[in-house]
Amino acid sequence: MSTVIYPSPIFGPVHSRRLGVSLGVNLLPPDGKSCTFDCIYCECGFNKDHRPKQGLPSREQVATALEEKLKAMTADGLSPDVITFAGNGEPTIHPHFAEIIDDTIALRDKYFPNAKVSVLSNATMIHKKNVHDALMKTDNNILKLDTVDPAYINEIDRPLHTYCLDRIIDGMKSFNGHLVIQTMFMKGTIDGKDVDNTGEEYVGPWITAVKEIKPEEVMIYTIDRETPTGTLAKASPEELDSIRDRVIAEGIPCIASY
Ligand code: SF4
Repeated sequence: MSTVIYPSPIFGPVHSRRLGVSLGVNLLPPDGKSCTFDCIYCECGFNKDHRPKQGLPSREQVATALEEKLKAMTADGLSPDVITFAGNGEPTIHPHFAEIIDDTIALRDKYFPNAKVSVLSNATMIHKKNVHDALMKTDNNILKLDTVDPAYINEIDRPLHTYCLDRIIDGMKSFNGHLVIQTMFMKGTIDGKDVDNTGEEYVGPWITAVKEIKPEEVMIYTIDRETPTGTLAKASPEELDSIRDRVIAEGIPCIASY
């Protein structure tokens, strides 16, 4: 199935299901994907099929391109609801992620002070102090937690390096509530193995972890775009609504996107 590689360092604005009018900041190369996960549902495709040849954009390139885009949007009378760090992989692997967040907040304050700064991250770098501190400065620190089942993580998110769930959960707790948990629920198979994570054996322990982490919000979603694995399927609206309602019953805001 076809997948998408985004321009870098700026793309959009695009209309996001979850975030509104979103101007994208892509800290990864423009010709491929770089991520510490290799999710079977990644809209950018599998890592092995999209190895980039170009390098990461520099801090200066990101700031210059972002300011040019914000000026152009001002001239066109367009306002972003959010400036979103996303794109071809994991934004926090950029060695100057923290400085780029500072630059972005300064530009946001100058051109569109009402816009939010959001980061979509898989949370694998939150143990690094400079990444943690930068994420604390953002408006929406959106961190992926697809499951708390280590075997499922290895089958679905496929971390490239050792992934210690307890360490990730402790890292999420250390934001003291300044985070949004984002979780993919889906059905289907990969290589003949069932990947349905909507059952109680996955949802129950996941809700227990969410309660411990105490995020300001939870976003649950399902397959929406083409994926590199053709045998995946959407969780149903009823299943997502049921999970959402259980999170809300714990006193944690939760939205479901279908
Ligand atoms: S964490 Fe995001 S960018 Fe990385 S492989 Fe998974 S879906 Fe793709």
